[in-house]
Amino acid sequence: MLPISTIIANTNSCSRRRSAIIPHMQNKPIGIFWECRACGFRFAEAPVQSHSATRQCPICGGEAIIGVAVYPQPTNPMSRPSPTPHPTIALLLDNLRSAYNVGSAFRTADGAGITHLYLTGITPTPPHQGISKTALGAERTVPWSKHLNAPQLAARLRSEGWTIWAMETAPTAIPLQTLLKTELPKHLLLVFGNEVAGIDPALLSLANAVVSLPMFGAKESLNVASALAAAVYAIRTAS
Ligand SMILES: [Zn+2]
Repeated sequence: MLPISTIIANTNSCSRRRSAIIPHMQNKPIGIFWECRACGFRFAEAPVQSHSATRQCPICGGEAIIGVAVYPQPTNPMSRPSPTPHPTIALLLDNLRSAYNVGSAFRTADGAGITHLYLTGITPTPPHQGISKTALGAERTVPWSKHLNAPQLAARLRSEGWTIWAMETAPTAIPLQTLLKTELPKHLLLVFGNEVAGIDPALLSLANAVVSLPMFGAKESLNVASALAAAVYAIRTAS
């Protein structure tokens, strides 16, 4: 969702006028969208680096002088919906290789009202530059814990009443859309595994169900962070 934009600069003004083109500069825009007059290339500058009213086109070197500034929107905490209480969802990320994927998982978890992230095996944990880059602070809002042995942890959580869905493309997997037509468990633990090796077989054997997302193209699976976001939001919006 884009905030309301304000047109701030327009065409052939002399430099004297340009200094007055960008209003509210004391209220700094979070981004400016520029358009090249020569080749039409339209590009974003975010974060905004300087107060100049023109930019050089990165494609043709021409002067890009049509700018639309985007200002931060005031936030109203009352307008935020409270997280859907059903089902309670936690994530177990076992042996993920990429810190960017972990950061992305944190951000999705924050948005979707996930109660806890279990990070196991070699999965990178905060504080980590790569996680921060994609989590954008969500690594500080979502509770998480680090564990050495994922199957041991999963066995404990299962004994405590969690239903475990292992998210994996496998011939025997149940399509997520099929499971979403059934009554959802109260406490759902979604398990994601290594980007290349997949989910540890010892974890798979502890799962109540192996669950897959529908694939319509040539590839057999999604990036783990994309799969996680798609699955979590499908579950959230189904209940
Ligand atoms: Zn251009």
